[in-house]
Amino acid sequence: MVNEVNTEPQNRKQMPKTSYSRPMIGSTGKTGSWRIFDPVIDYGNCSKCRTCWLFCPEAAISIDEDETPHIDLDYCKGCGICAEECPKKCIAMVRSGETKEAPV
Ligand code: SF4
Ligand code: SF4
Repeated sequence: MVNEVNTEPQNRKQMPKTSYSRPMIGSTGKTGSWRIFDPVIDYGNCSKCRTCWLFCPEAAISIDEDETPHIDLDYCKGCGICAEECPKKCIAMVRSGETKEAPV
């Protein structure tokens, strides 16, 4: 019998070492006028793993002193990479203007 291994990172130290592009904030300029979808984090399910922060190509996600991610919609382009990569599937892509980021 094979033991199942939980490969989901539980904290930053368990994140796999991998290559990634170096993001720059605002590399596509401010996006508020043309973004179609907004990422909305369900903080009740967020494990604070930083995967979204790692993958965002616009560096639009910051981590506060409590390890909580925050998305800067001035620079988010709505690509949905964070939602796709989130291991907890707690980021929803919602039509812009239909909701605001839930309070932490
Ligand atoms: S949708 Fe997510 S990954 Fe894409 S730019 Fe916005 S915050 Fe970054
Ligand atoms: S939103 Fe998802 S990817 Fe981002 S820190 Fe929370 S659990 Fe991790």
